Amino acid sequence: MDIYKNQLAQVHITDMSEDGAGIGHTRDGYTLFVKDAVIGDVVNARIVRPRKYYGFARTEEILLPSPDRVRPRCPVASQCGGCQLQALSYGRQLDFKQGKIYNALLRIGGFPEETLNRALHPIISMERPYRYRNKALYPVGTDRAGNLVAGFYAGRTHQIISNTDCALGAEGNRKILELILHFCQTNRISAYDERTGRGTLRHILIRQGFATGQVMVCLVINGERMLGEARLAKRLFMKIPGMTSFYINTNTEATNVALGKNSRLVQGEETIEDTIGGFRFGISPRSFYQVNPVQTERVYAQALAYAGLTGRETVWDLYCGIGTISLFLAKHARQVHGVEIVGETVDDARRNALLNGVDNVSFTVGRAEEVLPAALASGGEKADVIVVDPPRKGCGGDCLTAIAQMAPSRIVYVSCDPATLARDLNFLSQNGYRLEQVQPFDNFPQAVHVETVVLMSRTGR
Ligand code: SAH
Repeated sequence: MDIYKNQLAQVHITDMSEDGAGIGHTRDGYTLFVKDAVIGDVVNARIVRPRKYYGFARTEEILLPSPDRVRPRCPVASQCGGCQLQALSYGRQLDFKQGKIYNALLRIGGFPEETLNRALHPIISMERPYRYRNKALYPVGTDRAGNLVAGFYAGRTHQIISNTDCALGAEGNRKILELILHFCQTNRISAYDERTGRGTLRHILIRQGFATGQVMVCLVINGERMLGEARLAKRLFMKIPGMTSFYINTNTEATNVALGKNSRLVQGEETIEDTIGGFRFGISPRSFYQVNPVQTERVYAQALAYAGLTGRETVWDLYCGIGTISLFLAKHARQVHGVEIVGETVDDARRNALLNGVDNVSFTVGRAEEVLPAALASGGEKADVIVVDPPRKGCGGDCLTAIAQMAPSRIVYVSCDPATLARDLNFLSQNGYRLEQVQPFDNFPQAVHVETVVLMSRTGR
């Protein structure tokens, strides 16, 4: 069949892409990415961008709705790119994520079905899969009527669609956003305009310690100071329960990165605190901190269980962030070494160790793929257990080679991307390690992402 633009095709949706498009095939086997379709739908799709081997389409008509189709909680779910799976029932979302991991380990990892049937456990879900995020970042703009709005960019444009009540974030965010917008509107503080580079307010960042109730607000502005910032701070502290810390962050660059390098404390404390599993963590505006505290506690407990510590081990925690996993492990190990690339984050990690009275951890600023080989070359360093928790691009060859040479008896891999996880596990399985356990966690309900904790053990080859 010839494929041409504006053609209609009947498609049965069987999968979903990273950006939430339904994936299906036409009767002739041509692959289509279909906007606004979910797994199980049969739709009439209008082809908008045909390519040689696949094409993009949008749903013209739902011929047979999927039995797993649900009404999204957000009225703007289909325009907003923040999460992709709201129109799919939670149970089906979980199947989709489980399948994603299975397929990645099978196809990219090269693990046989028997191994996966033995090692891969069912995903651990959330009892309440909404309102779980402790961090919200809202871009600010101007609507057609000239009003200041916070919300999200409508696909491919610079128009901001107002939405102050994201269903994944805390309920209290709405009041904070409305207060700030109202203040700026009445004080004639304008929104930043990406096209002209003019205007003031760019983003509103809200972080909360769910366990402590503490709230941090950070305004990202196009300049050093904002007119009336001290008055706004006072108002927030008066009206928002738990308000702990108010920052102004400066970002004058034409960039998609939301926060600039410099943050200035206007009122309150430098950090907000949260607790996970009995440990206290101080969080500053730019530090990485897991966004879903309920699931994170389960992930860390699993990582600790897989580490199998008795109190005598030397452990390395690579990609350690603010030292969360390091502190969990330190209680049960002889010594923990954390490695993290961002200097400020390592400062937070050291402060967190002090805050919790943990003295058998040390932290090194640097790239895991450089710090570990250097430790190995120095001769004096060993590892009984190595934990890794890399960003989505995974560990990469140099880091994995050094890990295999250090020959710990167990490796615990915490991953937020099944494809790079599978690639890295394949390498380890060819370099002396056996896949023991794979435990997925739904840390990102309504979104396509999934977290996995894996145990590999040394076979002695
Ligand atoms: N384990 C932590 C952080 C995980 S996020 C937690 O659960 O909170 C991954 C971390 O790896 C980030 O803090 C990031 O700054 C860091 N990172 C990224 N590339 C790195 C590299 N090449 N070497 C070491 N750390 C790196």
